[in-house]
Amino acid sequence: MEFTPLLFSSLERYLPPNLLDKPKAEKYNYMRDILRRYSTDAERTREQKHKEYRQKIISNYQPLYRELYTMNSSMFFVPSFHKAFSNPDKDQSIKDIISQPAPGVVTFDMLQPRFCEMLLSEVENFEKWVHETKFRIMRPNTMNKYGAVLDDFGLEGTLGKLMEEFVRHISKVYFADVGGFALDSHHGFVVEYGMDRDVELGFHVDDSEVTLNVCLGKQFTGGDLFFRGVRCEKHVNGPTYRDEIFDYSHSVGRAILHRGRHRHGARATTSGNRVNLLLWCRSSVFRELKKYKKDFLNFCGECQKEKEARLVHTMAAWKQGVLVGEGDTAAS
Ligand SMILES: [Zn+2]
Repeated sequence: MEFTPLLFSSLERYLPPNLLDKPKAEKYNYMRDILRRYSTDAERTREQKHKEYRQKIISNYQPLYRELYTMNSSMFFVPSFHKAFSNPDKDQSIKDIISQPAPGVVTFDMLQPRFCEMLLSEVENFEKWVHETKFRIMRPNTMNKYGAVLDDFGLEGTLGKLMEEFVRHISKVYFADVGGFALDSHHGFVVEYGMDRDVELGFHVDDSEVTLNVCLGKQFTGGDLFFRGVRCEKHVNGPTYRDEIFDYSHSVGRAILHRGRHRHGARATTSGNRVNLLLWCRSSVFRELKKYKKDFLNFCGECQKEKEARLVHTMAAWKQGVLVGEGDTAAS
């Protein structure tokens, strides 16, 4: 399909009223024509090429552990996490297993040690295949020279489920202000740090609404994450306030979840090797809505400060106005 079904389902609600009860095919064609008008040829060619690239890998690479390629909650997750999600009152049971060590940062035990080992071996197996076949792979992002995109070698379905059935639910509770309830696409990859890998990662924001980051192993020292406040595009290079400074040490199997716009970086991994699973979760609906919101953005620390300052100013002006008004009354 030319465009993803998710895009159509999120667009459907904006259809003109006269189309609402028309057959599915007619609605589909209408939306497709609009999308074609807006997406450029270059964009479509790039998407097509990436699809072919992925297909080429998937049809040639032999997975090491087939069981990783289908979501299996009890095998992937530690019992506390698995149980919290089996509870009918999920919102509460999720809150019970989550801690919030700093505003906008939540952590919880997530992956089984055995699952972490298997995923590490799978990635090593994939890299061995890449090396042997001299296949030119794309790295996960512009900042990491090492690491692999899990979606590219067959794990897209598993990670999609991970987002839809688990991450989205947590995000709905903690990150509703960035569309956490409407996450509908993802970019899943591993990054590798150590002496013969990337050493550290500078201060940045992610191309995501919500980022899941889980340490998979192996043995390492250093590699702490540091956080410096959530910022919108306009304020991304602005100062950090004291109460926004937060550092986090990884432990294997434990997950950390934060807004993509939460500025952060990774300190040097000083010994050993550290591999982390990253899932950048995005919301097409939130991105679309954000385009029309020109004033203060609720999630941004600096926007909030500006909003407070504006309020204080307005209050002061109002008070003065009242006093002047009273004076006028007294004089007349
Ligand atoms: Zn802002």
